[in-house]
Amino acid sequence: MKLHIHDTLSGQKVEFKPNNPERVTLYVCGPTVYNYAHIGNARPVVVFDVLFRLLRHLYGEDHVVYARNITDVDDKINKKAMDEGVDISVITNRYADIYNADMAALNALPPTYQPRATDHMPDMVAMIEDLIERKAAYVTDDGEVLFRVADYDGGSGRYGKLAKRSLDDMIAGARVEVAENKDAAADFVLWKPSKPGEPVWPGPQDLPGRPGWHIECSAMSEAVLQLPIDIHGGGQDLIFPHHTNEIAQSCAAHGHSDPAAYARYWMHNGFLDFSGEKMSKSLGNVVLVHDLIKDYPGEVIRWALLSGHYRSPLNWTPELLEQSRNNLDKLYGLLRRAVDVPVVEVKGRGQYTYVNHQSLLEDLNTPGQISNIFFVANSLEKALGEKNLAVASDLKSNILEMGLVLGILQQDPEAWFKQGAGDDLTAQVEALIAARAVARAEKNWPEADRIRKELDALNIEVMDSAGGASWKVKATN
Ligand code: AMP
Ligand code: ZN
Repeated sequence: MKLHIHDTLSGQKVEFKPNNPERVTLYVCGPTVYNYAHIGNARPVVVFDVLFRLLRHLYGEDHVVYARNITDVDDKINKKAMDEGVDISVITNRYADIYNADMAALNALPPTYQPRATDHMPDMVAMIEDLIERKAAYVTDDGEVLFRVADYDGGSGRYGKLAKRSLDDMIAGARVEVAENKDAAADFVLWKPSKPGEPVWPGPQDLPGRPGWHIECSAMSEAVLQLPIDIHGGGQDLIFPHHTNEIAQSCAAHGHSDPAAYARYWMHNGFLDFSGEKMSKSLGNVVLVHDLIKDYPGEVIRWALLSGHYRSPLNWTPELLEQSRNNLDKLYGLLRRAVDVPVVEVKGRGQYTYVNHQSLLEDLNTPGQISNIFFVANSLEKALGEKNLAVASDLKSNILEMGLVLGILQQDPEAWFKQGAGDDLTAQVEALIAARAVARAEKNWPEADRIRKELDALNIEVMDSAGGASWKVKATN
């Protein structure tokens, strides 16, 4: 099974070949923790969670190392801490915990490592010292350390290779602040003095201060994964300047000229849009994951995020959530009908015992993979109708295995339909359904009808079948 991915660095769809199949490495830029994550922020988390699951499937669970950092040094964090009059760790711990809980609700597996910038200050300082020693960086009169972009580029176009732009275009387009003490407009900050009241760390060249954002990821990724990283990911907005600068620093610190010496493949997700615009905190058009999970099962939100290809824009609407819920209801309904069908090992036996991951292997085509699941589901429905247990067993096993890599369909189908009902409501509903079964057996239709209405008032839908009645909480959104 070959995995093909669209690599931003080469600009092509290429076959993925890990540096070491025993230790496949993935790094994804994580959140800056000063606020709640919005559903756009969750898109890279869920997309790269599917990649993580697929890599684990291909190379073995113990052979994939995934790091997603926490940016816990940042101006916005400082501001929030000052506003609340607390240490930055109070803010960063609070929002990192909320972030992890929210992402877990979307069935995102915890990454192998979740490095925090504040735990890697000595790594950053050592890297900056190396850059100064190699003359790739310089200290300004104001005590800042800046990276010398033109020297790194050397006229080779290397600096703009990821973003596919020339150095001049990038300077013009990026509204780079042209500080007086900069040798050149493109030079960016590796280290700077802290303002009064801001946190401060011992720095390179005995300059106390704080790191720039880009050096944080360069230092953390190397410390936890070692170089070269196999796949580096993030949202498209990070291609320039963040990822461009990560490559420049990490290559220059080791004297490498090939950008692939830092990360061999780069993957970037498209934006999630809301009412025609990119969802972002600065535009104020955000839907928070923390709020959404109160109204929708995490699996519905996850399905919605995976319903489009990761490189395309995804338009976020209430209808998308409803369609996602309906699709999951259909598949869980089928799995409930197949509840007594045994699950078998699906690795390479017999006519049906293969798992079709083909769409995911072609640049993580999640909508294609969802279609594949429905295709197998149709066959399962037919096999159930024909009471062909052997075939049904293979097909059900395939659906569950395909669902596992997408991070869906792993719940008990009964639990799926009953979610949202607490223990008390569940007990009440079960008692009413039992009483209704007695009324029906005694052909007491008025009583059976009365009980159904009572269930209706509790927002419970009852489905009768040959095997007895089952129920679900009706959608309220
Ligand atoms: P931030 O906290 O803004 O640095 O964003 C964290 C991650 O979310 C980055 O990988 C961003 O690229 C990604 N991201 C932010 N907004 C969106 C959006 N509207 N759609 C998709 N990804 C986004
Ligand atoms: Zn980063």
